[in-house]
Amino acid sequence: MTSSQLPAPGSTDRTTVRRLAEKTVTDRATGYAILDAGFVAHVSVADASGQPYVVPVGYARDGDRVLFHGSTGSRLFRGLADGQATCLTVTLLDGMVLARSTFESSMQYRGVMVLGTCHVLEGAEKDHALEVITEHLLPGRWSEARHPNKKELAATLVLALNLTEMSVKVADGPPEDEDDDIRRPIWAGVVPLREAFGEPIDAPDLVEPYPVPGYVKKWRRPDPS
Ligand SMILES: Cc1cc2nc3c(=O)[nH]c(=O)nc-3n(C[C@H](O)[C@H](O)[C@H](O)COP(=O)(O)OP(=O)(O)OC[C@H]3O[C@@H](n4cnc5c(N)ncnc54)[C@H](O)[C@@H]3O)c2cc1C
Repeated sequence: MTSSQLPAPGSTDRTTVRRLAEKTVTDRATGYAILDAGFVAHVSVADASGQPYVVPVGYARDGDRVLFHGSTGSRLFRGLADGQATCLTVTLLDGMVLARSTFESSMQYRGVMVLGTCHVLEGAEKDHALEVITEHLLPGRWSEARHPNKKELAATLVLALNLTEMSVKVADGPPEDEDDDIRRPIWAGVVPLREAFGEPIDAPDLVEPYPVPGYVKKWRRPDPS
């Protein structure tokens, strides 16, 4: 199935955005761009007693699926590997919205929510997934760093979650105060928030003073504007 044949974001009963529905986005390209700009996803999983947990993970999008990995020893990841239904979210925070009232104060954000079940990747698919995850989080690193050995691969569970059923919600724009509040003598507006990389710091055990790689110097965070 190609991307264009998959259901549009927010088009299934359980992904239809009902609260502030005007913030829903129905094109996949926007959802995929959000996934491509993020580093951390939050994945839900329940233990044997039914206690839910939300686990932050590094991830990457690979076509119409999201890839992430965890320890084969993790009981939570085993639950996902065994086909437990899950919900994965990625949120990018773009700004703080200061309305005249605290009720209308909010945040600017771009968010994706994916519903489904994961499947375990093995063999060549697993190797490919580890490269895709590494290159998303640390672009340029795969060709230079040592790749996982047999023992490390055996300890790593790689999961894929198809982007079949998903929703996209984007909050942008200025505060939306009640008419009665607009005349209040206080400032209102938006304070943008941006993620940025800092100056690279040498590991204390570098055996020689290696230069910072060119690919690291190129790392930038995308500007949402
Ligand atoms: C940074 C941030 C801060 C927020 N702060 C608050 C807060 O303080 N209080 C609050 O009530 N809400 C907050 N929200 C919004 C919150 O995520 C929900 O959208 C909102 O609570 C409505 O939830 P619901 O289940 O009633 O929505 P419904 O509209 O009933 O949800 C139906 C479906 O819409 C989709 N959906 C809902 N929310 C999102 C989302 N955020 N991203 C993608 N798809 C979504 C899902 O597929 C969901 O199943 C915040 C969102 C972000 C990203």
